[in-house]
Amino acid sequence: MSATGGAAITVSGCGKTYADGTRALAPLDLEVKAGETLVLLGPSGCGKTTLLRIIAGLETPDAGGRVAFDGSDVTGLPIEKRNVGMVFQSYALFPNMSVVENVAYGLRVRGVAKAERLAQATAVLEMMRIEALARRRIDQLSGGQRQRVALARALAVRPRVILLDEPLTALDAALREHLRAEIDALLKRLAITAIYVTHDQAEALALGDRIVVMRHGAIAQVGTPRAVYFQPADDFVADFVGITNRIPGAVRDGRFVSAAGALPVAAPDRAAATLLFRPEAATLCAPAEAALTLRVEQVEFQGARQRVVLAGADGGRIVVEAPAGTDLVTGAAVGVTLDPTRITLV
Ligand code: ADP
Ligand code: MG
Repeated sequence: MSATGGAAITVSGCGKTYADGTRALAPLDLEVKAGETLVLLGPSGCGKTTLLRIIAGLETPDAGGRVAFDGSDVTGLPIEKRNVGMVFQSYALFPNMSVVENVAYGLRVRGVAKAERLAQATAVLEMMRIEALARRRIDQLSGGQRQRVALARALAVRPRVILLDEPLTALDAALREHLRAEIDALLKRLAITAIYVTHDQAEALALGDRIVVMRHGAIAQVGTPRAVYFQPADDFVADFVGITNRIPGAVRDGRFVSAAGALPVAAPDRAAATLLFRPEAATLCAPAEAALTLRVEQVEFQGARQRVVLAGADGGRIVVEAPAGTDLVTGAAVGVTLDPTRITLV
């Protein structure tokens, strides 16, 4: 199967209020670049599926909302006219059809002749390395195989956009990781525009060219996985995406000042500020060599690494990592150096 050109997507002013009055989305704007993989990440109920379905054409936005593919307005077009492929958590395969018939289904609907659609469906099955399953019935497949078939079915019509709604959630952890890597490689190879919905931060960080973090029907932050992880826009994003350390203090004359010490920051004066950082942003050293000094409270051996819990002067706890060889004594003072590109002030 040859690579398909992906469409750029523009969502403008799209809100959604359901018939029962539920306000699932506040009017929001979003640009998806042609060929990129954009991940919608957020807790259950924050509006991810609603936004995906509006982009798919399965749901109409509230008045004033617009969706465009490559600059042309598709707001009034139903899903079958948008050239999108969709993959759901629940597979949604046709149980009375074989694998190859499922994969060829979209081509049949489009009036592609039988020989041609079987050839195309077989090519997609080969690409997904499941051609051996072509004649199987759906109920003869494992969960992972079903999801591969669902993906193959979505890709068979060579869509310009593929929309995936928590496609791995129903699978066990090991399979989820395996299939995630496969999907990642596939999306990169096809250069198709992909929007991937998940509530799993590890999936989002691994798959996304960019991540949209959502909260209560609104966008909390849009950025690369690194930006969202190391420079979270606010407390919500920081907490939703990984372990966060917090040191309370203030900003004075270009320095963050706290009970643990002071370090230079590019921020205006503030009477109260909190320094946020991830465990990986910190390196431990001798107290004299570092801007911040904390006390070692607990050390946990983890093989190649040690997980170290530090206590701040204010009683707050800081979790960091250190190489296995670092000599740490419980109760002793230790210096903490922070990578300036991986800290955030809120
Ligand atoms: P997510 O995919 O992030 O879990 P959804 O987009 O499914 O969130 O839902 C957002 C909000 O809209 C939730 O409060 C949900 O209960 C509500 N909702 C979803 N679909 C409907 C519907 N058809 N009718 C009424 N409320 C709905
Ligand atoms: Mg959902």
